[in-house]
Amino acid sequence: MEISDLKRAYTVPQVLTHYGLPQPNRAGFINCLVHTDKNASMKVYPNRLVCFSCGCRMDIFDICGHIHGLDGTGERIKRFHEDMRLDNQPIRKRNTDEHRRLKREEETKQARRACRDRLHRIAYKGKHTAEPFSPMWEKSVTILRNVSAWYEREGIE
Ligand SMILES: [Zn+2]
Repeated sequence: MEISDLKRAYTVPQVLTHYGLPQPNRAGFINCLVHTDKNASMKVYPNRLVCFSCGCRMDIFDICGHIHGLDGTGERIKRFHEDMRLDNQPIRKRNTDEHRRLKREEETKQARRACRDRLHRIAYKGKHTAEPFSPMWEKSVTILRNVSAWYEREGIE
């Protein structure tokens, strides 16, 4: 398992949860892990913590090192790997689940897209065959406008 694999497999919020550390507040901040912090100055990013008060930055391995009092980078990475192994789900399983979720999401997106495309075709035909300003024509124009707005939102040309 490479360092980059571990970094891909675990986000900072997951690691905070694993070690029973505080969860970010609504603004995405926690109390700094390093200095005595009354104001939640530490911003939680997906891949790091940054304290806007004392300036310290921590990645997932640094959090592990902080918990166990380990200084060396190698030690931290090794311990992190061990800690996560003890977690209820092995890393590979997690990745598979994540992969499945993304695949499902993509399929849903494609199905929705196909549905809209069909609607677009029907409405387009309606607009060009119906009597202008007839109810059928009005309806087709409305549908076309809605579908175009959707395409725009989804970034589809
Ligand atoms: Zn700090």
